[in-house]
Amino acid sequence: MLCSNIGINESGHLTFAGEDTVRLAAHYKTPLYLMDEDRIRENCRVYKTAMARAFGDGSFPLYASKAASFKRIYAIMQDEGMAIDVVSAGEIATAKRAGFQMERAFFHGNNKTDADISYAMAANVGYFVADHEQELEIISREAKSRGIRQKVLLRLTPGIDPHTYEAVATGKVDSKFGVAIETGQAENFVRLALSLPNIRLMGYHCHVGSQVFDEDGSVYHDAAKIMLTFAADMKRKLGADMQLLDLGGGYGVRYTDADPAVDIAANIESLAEAIRSICCELGLSVPAVLLEPGRSIVADAGMTLYTAGSTKSIPGYKNYVSVDGGMTDNPRYALYGSKYTVYLANRAGEEANFRCDVVGRCCESGDIIQPDVLLPEPKRGDLIAVCTTGAYNYSMASNYNRIPRPPVVMLKGGKPTLAVRRETVDDLTALDM
Ligand SMILES: *Cc1c(COP(=O)(O)O)cnc(C)c1O
Repeated sequence: MLCSNIGINESGHLTFAGEDTVRLAAHYKTPLYLMDEDRIRENCRVYKTAMARAFGDGSFPLYASKAASFKRIYAIMQDEGMAIDVVSAGEIATAKRAGFQMERAFFHGNNKTDADISYAMAANVGYFVADHEQELEIISREAKSRGIRQKVLLRLTPGIDPHTYEAVATGKVDSKFGVAIETGQAENFVRLALSLPNIRLMGYHCHVGSQVFDEDGSVYHDAAKIMLTFAADMKRKLGADMQLLDLGGGYGVRYTDADPAVDIAANIESLAEAIRSICCELGLSVPAVLLEPGRSIVADAGMTLYTAGSTKSIPGYKNYVSVDGGMTDNPRYALYGSKYTVYLANRAGEEANFRCDVVGRCCESGDIIQPDVLLPEPKRGDLIAVCTTGAYNYSMASNYNRIPRPPVVMLKGGKPTLAVRRETVDDLTALDM
Protein backbone atom coordinates (compact mmCIF):
# COMPACT_ATOMS: atom_id res chain seq x y z
CA MET A 1 0.00 0.00 0.00
CA LEU A 2 1.02 3.63 -0.46
CA CYS A 3 1.61 4.36 3.20
CA SER A 4 2.22 2.32 6.35
CA ASN A 5 -1.06 3.44 7.97
CA ILE A 6 -3.07 1.88 5.11
CA GLY A 7 -3.86 -1.83 4.98
CA ILE A 8 -6.39 -4.49 3.95
CA ASN A 9 -8.16 -6.64 6.54
CA GLU A 10 -9.51 -10.22 6.36
CA SER A 11 -12.83 -8.96 4.93
CA GLY A 12 -10.97 -7.37 2.03
CA HIS A 13 -11.75 -3.92 3.40
CA LEU A 14 -9.26 -1.09 3.31
CA THR A 15 -8.04 -0.08 6.74
CA PHE A 16 -6.70 3.30 7.79
CA ALA A 17 -4.84 3.80 11.06
CA GLY A 18 -5.98 0.28 11.91
CA GLU A 19 -9.68 1.08 11.43
CA ASP A 20 -12.00 -0.59 8.93
CA THR A 21 -12.95 2.17 6.46
CA VAL A 22 -16.20 0.40 5.52
CA ARG A 23 -17.35 0.51 9.14
CA LEU A 24 -16.32 4.15 9.53
CA ALA A 25 -18.21 5.08 6.36
CA ALA A 26 -21.31 3.20 7.52
CA HIS A 27 -21.23 5.06 10.82
CA TYR A 28 -20.27 8.59 9.75
CA LYS A 29 -21.60 8.46 6.15
CA THR A 30 -19.72 9.83 3.12
CA PRO A 31 -18.03 11.93 1.94
CA LEU A 32 -15.82 11.73 4.99
CA TYR A 33 -12.38 13.01 5.93
CA LEU A 34 -10.34 10.74 8.18
CA MET A 35 -7.27 11.96 10.05
CA ASP A 36 -4.76 9.61 11.67
CA GLU A 37 -3.91 11.59 14.80
CA ASP A 38 -1.11 9.23 15.80
CA ARG A 39 0.54 9.88 12.43
CA ILE A 40 0.21 13.65 12.83
CA ARG A 41 1.95 13.42 16.19
CA GLU A 42 4.66 11.13 14.78
CA ASN A 43 5.32 13.58 11.96
CA CYS A 44 5.66 16.45 14.45
CA ARG A 45 8.13 14.43 16.50
CA VAL A 46 10.29 13.62 13.47
CA TYR A 47 10.78 17.36 12.92
CA LYS A 48 11.15 18.25 16.58
CA THR A 49 13.69 15.55 17.35
CA ALA A 50 15.71 16.04 14.19
CA MET A 51 15.80 19.82 14.54
CA ALA A 52 16.78 19.76 18.20
CA ARG A 53 19.58 17.32 17.40
CA ALA A 54 20.81 19.04 14.24
CA PHE A 55 20.40 22.72 15.07
CA GLY A 56 20.38 22.75 18.86
CA ASP A 57 18.67 25.15 21.24
CA GLY A 58 16.25 27.77 19.99
CA SER A 59 15.55 25.93 16.73
CA PHE A 60 12.12 24.43 16.23
CA PRO A 61 9.49 23.49 13.64
CA LEU A 62 6.35 25.54 13.04
CA TYR A 63 3.29 23.77 11.72
CA ALA A 64 1.98 25.79 8.75
CA SER A 65 -1.60 25.56 9.82
CA LYS A 66 -3.17 26.54 6.52
CA ALA A 67 -2.56 22.90 5.51
CA ALA A 68 -5.33 21.78 7.86
CA SER A 69 -6.92 24.26 10.22
CA PHE A 70 -9.52 23.37 12.85
CA LYS A 71 -9.51 23.41 16.62
CA ARG A 72 -8.39 19.83 17.22
CA ILE A 73 -5.27 20.31 15.08
CA TYR A 74 -4.18 23.34 17.11
CA ALA A 75 -4.76 21.42 20.34
CA ILE A 76 -2.50 18.65 19.02
CA MET A 77 0.18 21.20 18.08
CA GLN A 78 0.02 22.75 21.53
CA ASP A 79 0.27 19.30 23.07
CA GLU A 80 3.25 18.35 20.88
CA GLY A 81 5.08 21.58 21.69
CA MET A 82 4.97 22.77 18.09
CA ALA A 83 4.94 26.42 17.09
CA ILE A 84 2.52 27.42 14.32
CA ASP A 85 2.13 29.63 11.27
CA VAL A 86 -1.13 31.49 10.89
CA VAL A 87 -2.24 33.67 7.98
CA SER A 88 -5.53 35.25 8.99
CA ALA A 89 -7.63 36.38 11.92
CA GLY A 90 -9.71 33.26 11.30
CA GLU A 91 -6.76 30.94 11.87
CA ILE A 92 -5.69 32.98 14.89
CA ALA A 93 -9.17 32.80 16.41
CA THR A 94 -9.37 29.05 15.80
CA ALA A 95 -5.97 28.46 17.39
CA LYS A 96 -6.86 30.65 20.37
CA ARG A 97 -10.13 28.87 20.95
CA ALA A 98 -8.26 25.59 20.95
CA GLY A 99 -6.05 26.93 23.76
CA PHE A 100 -2.97 27.44 21.65
CA GLN A 101 -0.43 29.82 23.22
CA MET A 102 -0.13 32.60 20.71
CA GLU A 103 3.42 33.61 21.72
CA ARG A 104 4.41 30.56 19.66
CA ALA A 105 2.52 31.73 16.57
CA PHE A 106 4.03 33.40 13.50
CA PHE A 107 1.76 35.62 11.45
CA HIS A 108 2.28 35.27 7.71
CA GLY A 109 0.65 36.46 4.53
CA ASN A 110 1.42 38.74 1.60
CA ASN A 111 -1.41 41.12 2.38
CA LYS A 112 -2.27 41.21 6.04
CA THR A 113 -5.19 43.58 6.41
CA ASP A 114 -4.97 46.44 8.90
CA ALA A 115 -7.75 44.74 10.85
CA ASP A 116 -5.88 41.42 10.92
CA ILE A 117 -2.67 43.12 12.07
CA SER A 118 -4.51 44.77 14.91
CA TYR A 119 -6.35 41.55 15.78
CA ALA A 120 -3.13 39.53 15.77
CA MET A 121 -1.34 41.98 18.03
CA ALA A 122 -4.27 42.06 20.44
CA ALA A 123 -4.12 38.25 20.48
CA ASN A 124 -0.42 38.39 21.46
CA VAL A 125 0.79 36.61 18.34
CA GLY A 126 4.51 36.23 19.03
CA TYR A 127 6.03 37.02 15.66
CA PHE A 128 5.00 38.86 12.54
CA VAL A 129 6.60 37.86 9.26
CA ALA A 130 6.51 41.15 7.39
CA ASP A 131 5.98 40.78 3.67
CA HIS A 132 6.97 44.25 2.49
CA GLU A 133 7.79 47.77 3.60
CA GLN A 134 4.26 49.22 3.69
CA GLU A 135 3.12 46.35 5.83
CA LEU A 136 6.07 46.76 8.18
CA GLU A 137 5.09 50.38 8.68
CA ILE A 138 1.56 49.40 9.61
CA ILE A 139 2.86 46.74 12.03
CA SER A 140 5.11 49.39 13.54
CA ARG A 141 2.26 51.89 13.88
CA GLU A 142 0.06 49.28 15.56
CA ALA A 143 2.89 48.27 17.93
CA LYS A 144 3.49 51.92 18.79
CA SER A 145 -0.16 52.47 19.64
CA ARG A 146 0.04 49.50 22.00
CA GLY A 147 3.34 50.61 23.47
CA ILE A 148 5.18 47.40 22.53
CA ARG A 149 8.15 46.32 20.44
CA GLN A 150 6.85 43.70 18.02
CA LYS A 151 9.17 40.82 17.10
CA VAL A 152 9.43 40.60 13.34
CA LEU A 153 11.02 38.46 10.65
CA LEU A 154 11.39 39.89 7.16
CA ARG A 155 10.17 37.74 4.31
CA LEU A 156 12.72 37.69 1.51
CA THR A 157 12.77 35.99 -1.87
CA PRO A 158 16.09 34.29 -2.46
CA GLY A 159 15.45 33.82 -6.18
CA ILE A 160 15.29 30.05 -6.19
CA ASP A 161 13.26 27.82 -8.44
CA PRO A 162 12.54 24.61 -6.52
CA HIS A 163 11.33 22.80 -9.68
CA THR A 164 7.87 22.18 -8.38
CA TYR A 165 4.53 23.33 -9.78
CA GLU A 166 4.42 26.97 -10.88
CA ALA A 167 1.44 27.71 -8.62
CA VAL A 168 3.28 26.57 -5.51
CA ALA A 169 6.77 27.94 -6.28
CA THR A 170 7.09 30.97 -4.04
CA GLY A 171 10.78 31.79 -3.72
CA LYS A 172 11.46 33.17 -7.18
CA VAL A 173 12.39 36.83 -7.68
CA ASP A 174 9.09 37.66 -9.40
CA SER A 175 6.97 36.08 -6.65
CA LYS A 176 4.04 37.92 -5.08
CA PHE A 177 5.52 37.02 -1.69
CA GLY A 178 8.32 38.85 0.07
CA VAL A 179 11.04 41.25 -1.00
CA ALA A 180 13.76 40.28 -3.45
CA ILE A 181 17.39 40.10 -2.43
CA GLU A 182 18.62 40.26 -6.01
CA THR A 183 17.07 43.66 -6.76
CA GLY A 184 18.57 45.33 -3.69
CA GLN A 185 15.09 45.97 -2.23
CA ALA A 186 15.70 43.58 0.67
CA GLU A 187 18.49 45.82 1.95
CA ASN A 188 16.11 48.79 2.10
CA PHE A 189 13.63 46.58 3.90
CA VAL A 190 16.24 45.86 6.60
CA ARG A 191 17.14 49.56 6.85
CA LEU A 192 13.50 50.37 7.42
CA ALA A 193 13.12 47.65 10.08
CA LEU A 194 16.16 48.97 11.94
CA SER A 195 14.82 52.51 11.82
CA LEU A 196 11.48 51.70 13.45
CA PRO A 197 11.71 51.79 17.25
CA ASN A 198 8.63 49.60 17.76
CA ILE A 199 10.00 46.85 15.54
CA ARG A 200 12.38 44.27 16.90
CA LEU A 201 14.11 42.63 13.94
CA MET A 202 14.67 38.96 14.82
CA GLY A 203 15.84 37.65 11.47
CA TYR A 204 14.82 36.61 8.00
CA HIS A 205 12.35 34.26 6.41
CA CYS A 206 12.04 32.59 3.03
CA HIS A 207 9.85 29.83 1.66
CA VAL A 208 10.97 28.37 -1.63
CA GLY A 209 7.85 26.42 -2.51
CA SER A 210 5.85 23.34 -1.81
CA GLN A 211 5.94 19.62 -2.61
CA VAL A 212 9.72 19.92 -2.96
CA PHE A 213 11.66 16.67 -3.28
CA ASP A 214 15.05 17.94 -2.25
CA GLU A 215 16.77 14.62 -2.81
CA ASP A 216 20.31 15.94 -2.91
CA GLY A 217 19.54 18.73 -0.44
CA SER A 218 20.43 21.41 -2.97
CA VAL A 219 17.20 23.43 -2.79
CA TYR A 220 17.39 24.17 0.94
CA HIS A 221 21.19 24.44 0.93
CA ASP A 222 21.01 27.03 -1.85
CA ALA A 223 18.28 28.94 -0.04
CA ALA A 224 20.29 28.88 3.21
CA LYS A 225 23.42 30.07 1.44
CA ILE A 226 21.69 33.04 -0.19
CA MET A 227 19.93 34.00 3.05
CA LEU A 228 23.08 33.67 5.18
CA THR A 229 25.16 35.62 2.68
CA PHE A 230 22.57 38.36 2.79
CA ALA A 231 22.51 38.28 6.60
CA ALA A 232 26.30 38.58 6.76
CA ASP A 233 26.10 41.49 4.36
CA MET A 234 23.49 43.27 6.50
CA LYS A 235 25.51 42.60 9.62
CA ARG A 236 28.57 44.20 8.03
CA LYS A 237 26.80 47.13 6.40
CA LEU A 238 24.08 47.93 8.90
CA GLY A 239 25.01 46.07 12.06
CA ALA A 240 21.81 44.02 11.75
CA ASP A 241 21.84 40.88 13.88
CA MET A 242 20.02 37.73 12.87
CA GLN A 243 18.85 35.50 15.70
CA LEU A 244 16.42 33.45 13.65
CA LEU A 245 16.67 32.07 10.14
CA ASP A 246 13.34 30.68 8.97
CA LEU A 247 13.71 28.57 5.84
CA GLY A 248 10.02 27.91 5.34
CA GLY A 249 8.22 24.69 4.60
CA GLY A 250 7.78 22.61 1.53
CA TYR A 251 9.08 19.07 1.96
CA GLY A 252 7.20 16.81 -0.43
CA VAL A 253 5.03 13.83 0.44
CA ARG A 254 4.13 10.65 -1.42
CA TYR A 255 0.84 10.97 -3.25
CA THR A 256 1.60 7.97 -5.45
CA ASP A 257 4.08 5.11 -5.53
CA ALA A 258 6.07 7.10 -8.11
CA ASP A 259 6.90 9.82 -5.56
CA PRO A 260 10.13 9.36 -3.61
CA ALA A 261 9.99 9.28 0.19
CA VAL A 262 11.83 12.26 1.69
CA ASP A 263 14.01 11.32 4.65
CA ILE A 264 13.24 14.41 6.67
CA ALA A 265 15.63 13.70 9.53
CA ALA A 266 18.53 13.09 7.14
CA ASN A 267 17.64 16.17 5.13
CA ILE A 268 17.61 18.32 8.28
CA GLU A 269 20.93 16.84 9.40
CA SER A 270 22.62 17.71 6.10
CA LEU A 271 21.04 21.17 6.07
CA ALA A 272 22.45 21.84 9.53
CA GLU A 273 25.92 20.82 8.38
CA ALA A 274 25.65 23.08 5.35
CA ILE A 275 24.50 26.01 7.50
CA ARG A 276 27.36 25.55 9.96
CA SER A 277 29.95 25.47 7.21
CA ILE A 278 28.46 28.48 5.36
CA CYS A 279 28.35 30.48 8.62
CA CYS A 280 31.95 29.54 9.29
CA GLU A 281 33.00 30.75 5.83
CA LEU A 282 31.09 34.00 6.30
CA GLY A 283 32.30 34.57 9.84
CA LEU A 284 28.68 34.66 10.95
CA SER A 285 27.42 33.22 14.22
CA VAL A 286 25.06 30.30 13.58
CA PRO A 287 21.42 31.42 13.97
CA ALA A 288 18.60 29.36 15.40
CA VAL A 289 16.83 27.74 12.47
CA LEU A 290 13.10 27.43 11.93
CA LEU A 291 11.28 25.22 9.43
CA GLU A 292 7.60 25.48 8.60
CA PRO A 293 6.23 22.13 7.46
CA GLY A 294 2.54 21.97 6.61
CA ARG A 295 1.95 19.25 4.09
CA SER A 296 4.52 16.85 5.52
CA ILE A 297 2.85 17.05 8.96
CA VAL A 298 -0.71 16.24 7.92
CA ALA A 299 -0.90 14.96 4.32
CA ASP A 300 -0.28 11.27 4.93
CA ALA A 301 -2.45 11.43 8.03
CA GLY A 302 -5.50 12.02 5.85
CA MET A 303 -7.83 9.90 3.74
CA THR A 304 -11.15 10.80 2.11
CA LEU A 305 -13.95 8.27 1.71
CA TYR A 306 -16.64 8.61 -0.95
CA THR A 307 -19.55 6.49 -2.10
CA ALA A 308 -19.50 5.64 -5.79
CA GLY A 309 -22.52 6.71 -7.80
CA SER A 310 -22.98 5.95 -11.45
CA THR A 311 -20.30 4.47 -13.66
CA LYS A 312 -20.46 5.78 -17.20
CA SER A 313 -18.64 4.09 -20.09
CA ILE A 314 -18.10 5.89 -23.37
CA PRO A 315 -16.97 3.15 -25.78
CA GLY A 316 -13.71 3.98 -27.51
CA TYR A 317 -13.12 6.85 -25.07
CA LYS A 318 -13.16 6.37 -21.34
CA ASN A 319 -14.99 5.38 -18.20
CA TYR A 320 -16.19 7.75 -15.52
CA VAL A 321 -16.92 6.89 -11.92
CA SER A 322 -18.78 9.66 -10.08
CA VAL A 323 -18.47 10.07 -6.33
CA ASP A 324 -20.61 11.92 -3.77
CA GLY A 325 -17.99 14.66 -3.24
CA GLY A 326 -15.59 16.40 -5.59
CA MET A 327 -13.74 19.68 -6.03
CA THR A 328 -15.71 21.07 -3.09
CA ASP A 329 -13.84 18.81 -0.66
CA ASN A 330 -10.69 18.36 -2.77
CA PRO A 331 -9.94 21.06 -5.35
CA ARG A 332 -6.30 20.07 -5.79
CA TYR A 333 -6.55 18.21 -9.09
CA ALA A 334 -8.63 21.06 -10.51
CA LEU A 335 -6.10 23.63 -9.21
CA TYR A 336 -2.74 21.99 -9.79
CA GLY A 337 -3.32 18.69 -11.55
CA SER A 338 -2.29 16.96 -8.33
CA LYS A 339 -1.78 13.21 -8.32
CA TYR A 340 -3.60 10.90 -5.90
CA THR A 341 -3.78 7.21 -5.15
CA VAL A 342 -7.30 5.79 -5.18
CA TYR A 343 -8.55 2.45 -3.84
CA LEU A 344 -11.89 0.65 -3.92
CA ALA A 345 -12.18 0.39 -0.17
CA ASN A 346 -14.84 -2.30 0.24
CA ARG A 347 -13.17 -4.67 -2.28
CA ALA A 348 -9.58 -3.59 -1.79
CA GLY A 349 -8.13 -7.03 -2.43
CA GLU A 350 -9.68 -7.47 -5.88
CA GLU A 351 -7.80 -7.00 -9.11
CA ALA A 352 -7.70 -3.37 -10.21
CA ASN A 353 -8.28 -3.69 -13.97
CA PHE A 354 -10.93 -1.06 -14.69
CA ARG A 355 -9.43 2.17 -16.00
CA CYS A 356 -11.51 5.23 -15.17
CA ASP A 357 -11.60 8.90 -14.23
CA VAL A 358 -12.85 9.43 -10.70
CA VAL A 359 -14.94 12.60 -10.87
CA GLY A 360 -17.02 14.68 -8.50
CA ARG A 361 -20.64 15.78 -8.50
CA CYS A 362 -20.10 19.48 -9.17
CA CYS A 363 -21.28 21.24 -12.31
CA GLU A 364 -17.78 21.70 -13.76
CA SER A 365 -15.99 19.47 -16.27
CA GLY A 366 -12.82 20.23 -14.33
CA ASP A 367 -14.34 18.64 -11.22
CA ILE A 368 -12.00 15.67 -11.32
CA ILE A 369 -10.57 13.97 -8.27
CA GLN A 370 -8.16 11.88 -10.32
CA PRO A 371 -8.08 10.85 -13.95
CA ASP A 372 -6.88 7.54 -15.29
CA VAL A 373 -6.89 5.33 -12.22
CA LEU A 374 -7.16 1.55 -12.06
CA LEU A 375 -9.80 0.08 -9.74
CA PRO A 376 -11.83 -3.11 -9.54
CA GLU A 377 -14.91 -2.06 -11.59
CA PRO A 378 -16.96 0.03 -9.12
CA LYS A 379 -20.69 -0.53 -8.67
CA ARG A 380 -23.07 2.07 -7.34
CA GLY A 381 -22.73 2.12 -3.55
CA ASP A 382 -19.12 0.93 -3.45
CA LEU A 383 -16.71 2.83 -1.22
CA ILE A 384 -13.89 4.80 -2.82
CA ALA A 385 -10.89 5.94 -0.80
CA VAL A 386 -8.53 8.74 -1.85
CA CYS A 387 -5.25 8.71 0.05
CA THR A 388 -2.95 11.46 1.34
CA THR A 389 -5.71 14.05 1.61
CA GLY A 390 -4.74 15.42 5.02
CA ALA A 391 -3.20 18.62 3.66
CA TYR A 392 -4.97 21.34 1.67
CA ASN A 393 -8.23 19.42 1.35
CA TYR A 394 -10.47 20.34 4.28
CA SER A 395 -8.74 23.73 4.47
CA MET A 396 -9.46 24.43 0.79
CA ALA A 397 -12.99 23.04 0.81
CA SER A 398 -15.84 25.17 -0.48
CA ASN A 399 -19.61 25.12 -0.68
CA TYR A 400 -19.81 25.35 -4.46
CA ASN A 401 -23.17 24.03 -5.66
CA ARG A 402 -24.23 24.42 -2.00
CA ILE A 403 -22.62 21.14 -1.13
CA PRO A 404 -22.02 20.84 2.63
CA ARG A 405 -18.47 20.17 3.72
CA PRO A 406 -17.74 16.67 5.08
CA PRO A 407 -16.93 16.02 8.72
CA VAL A 408 -13.41 15.32 9.97
CA VAL A 409 -12.98 12.21 12.09
CA MET A 410 -9.77 11.76 14.06
CA LEU A 411 -8.40 8.25 14.58
CA LYS A 412 -6.27 7.88 17.67
CA GLY A 413 -5.17 4.65 19.27
CA GLY A 414 -7.94 2.81 17.43
CA LYS A 415 -10.66 5.17 18.59
CA PRO A 416 -12.56 7.48 16.24
CA THR A 417 -13.73 10.90 17.44
CA LEU A 418 -15.45 13.65 15.56
CA ALA A 419 -13.26 16.76 15.24
CA VAL A 420 -15.46 18.70 12.81
CA ARG A 421 -19.10 17.78 12.33
CA ARG A 422 -20.77 17.53 8.93
CA GLU A 423 -22.18 20.78 7.60
CA THR A 424 -25.94 20.86 7.28
CA VAL A 425 -28.34 22.69 5.02
CA ASP A 426 -29.05 24.95 8.00
CA ASP A 427 -25.34 25.85 8.16
CA LEU A 428 -25.41 26.61 4.45
CA THR A 429 -28.31 29.03 4.74
CA ALA A 430 -27.30 30.48 8.12
CA LEU A 431 -25.84 33.66 6.59
CA ASP A 432 -28.61 34.29 4.08
CA MET A 433 -30.90 37.17 5.14
C1 LIG B 1 2.44 27.13 2.65
C2 LIG B 1 3.57 27.58 3.44
C3 LIG B 1 4.26 26.67 4.23
C4 LIG B 1 3.96 25.21 4.26
O1 LIG B 1 4.29 24.59 3.05
P1 LIG B 1 4.16 23.00 2.92
O2 LIG B 1 4.47 22.74 1.51
O3 LIG B 1 2.73 22.67 3.25
O4 LIG B 1 5.13 22.40 3.86
C5 LIG B 1 5.29 27.16 5.04
N1 LIG B 1 5.61 28.47 5.05
C6 LIG B 1 4.94 29.37 4.29
C7 LIG B 1 5.32 30.79 4.36
C8 LIG B 1 3.92 28.97 3.46
O5 LIG B 1 3.28 29.86 2.71
